[in-house]
Amino acid sequence: MQKQQVVELDKKYFMPVFSRYQLVLSHGEGSYVYDTDGKKYIDFLAGIAVNVLGHGHPGLVKAVCEQAGKLIHCSNLYYTEPQVQLIKKLAELSGMDKVFIANSGAEANEGAIKLARKYGKMQSPDKFEIVTAEQSFHGRTLATLTATGQPKYQEGYEPLPGGFRYVPFNDKAALKAVVSAKTCAVMIEPVQGEGGIHVPIDDYLQYARELCDQYGAMLIFDEIQSGMGRTGSFLACQGYGVKPDIITLAKGLAGGVPIGAFLATEKAAAAFAPGDHGSTFGGNPLACAAALAVLDAIEQEGLMENAAAVGGYLIGKMQAMQQKYPALIKEVRGKGLMVGAELTRPGREVVDLCMEQGAIINCTAGNVLRFVPPLNATRDQVDEVVAIVDAVLGKWQ
Ligand SMILES: *Cc1c(COP(=O)(O)O)cnc(C)c1O
Repeated sequence: MQKQQVVELDKKYFMPVFSRYQLVLSHGEGSYVYDTDGKKYIDFLAGIAVNVLGHGHPGLVKAVCEQAGKLIHCSNLYYTEPQVQLIKKLAELSGMDKVFIANSGAEANEGAIKLARKYGKMQSPDKFEIVTAEQSFHGRTLATLTATGQPKYQEGYEPLPGGFRYVPFNDKAALKAVVSAKTCAVMIEPVQGEGGIHVPIDDYLQYARELCDQYGAMLIFDEIQSGMGRTGSFLACQGYGVKPDIITLAKGLAGGVPIGAFLATEKAAAAFAPGDHGSTFGGNPLACAAALAVLDAIEQEGLMENAAAVGGYLIGKMQAMQQKYPALIKEVRGKGLMVGAELTRPGREVVDLCMEQGAIINCTAGNVLRFVPPLNATRDQVDEVVAIVDAVLGKWQ
């Protein structure tokens, strides 16, 4: 197909919700993807923090092919080996006791919200409030876009589900002012992603933990973007030494095969009884086999260590860019391979020009360049991307 044909078919038949880049991708290898004209791009967006092993990772491809030939799906009316292996592995890696497997991030968060509500209701009929952060992102379903502390995702969808309260991120006094006996959960991304890559200050997460303990509320960490080794530990919260009651995962968990999960302590999970939640596709053997292959590779290939080391290198390189272009780069933030560079101008044009020069990154929150590459990215690849960013920013100098 010609590129123009693809673009026209999309325009004719796809719901008009995306403003896509004019790029038709065909295949990838490692940290690189190719378009249908054969042009090569270094991929430092990785499907928005999804392709944690890069493209075409042999272990992941093999696991998916083998499992597809055996059993793709059989419903949750039956047991499968990949599913029990995955939940055991996730419990071990996270320190949680119970796991539910869903199909996406939003669905994982929906499940977490339902569990927290159920838990709260069992304590008191008024214990249903969920406190979330401004600039957060938790998904696009009605409950999760309501949890998302950004009005732009909510406008037009009212009436929204009730019981959500918002506080500025990293503001302990604001959190203290809102959390009460009515709070069933505080839901936070330990490192905010879509909102512009914001890392927690000092003891913010620990403070949230203490407030939740004081009021008998569940602490939910949305690790959908920050988890799976991206920040240098399996979960970002482990790097900050704070243990929540409920954790949600998705994005990189199966390296691109759709999956989501929510994990909880025994105490939290006990609020659920048979019939309280479910999913047709969630946890099917294909997605579970893919996730197992991803988790194996993260451990065996030392990808958490790599994320910490190469991420530190990337942050250093971008800080050097900030010194070179102080009028263009306001701040560089991040942890591991979750890095943002806040610009003093809109980011879209920078992203477009980088793409022209063969580097895929994106812009979030309007003016934050976001780098969330595969976890096996190398220093040389960082150099390659930063050289392109340098060349592009040079145009405004
Ligand atoms: C991407 C994301 C979600 C939503 O995941 P989907 O799979 O798109 O539903 C939720 N929370 C965070 C932190 C995310 O980054």
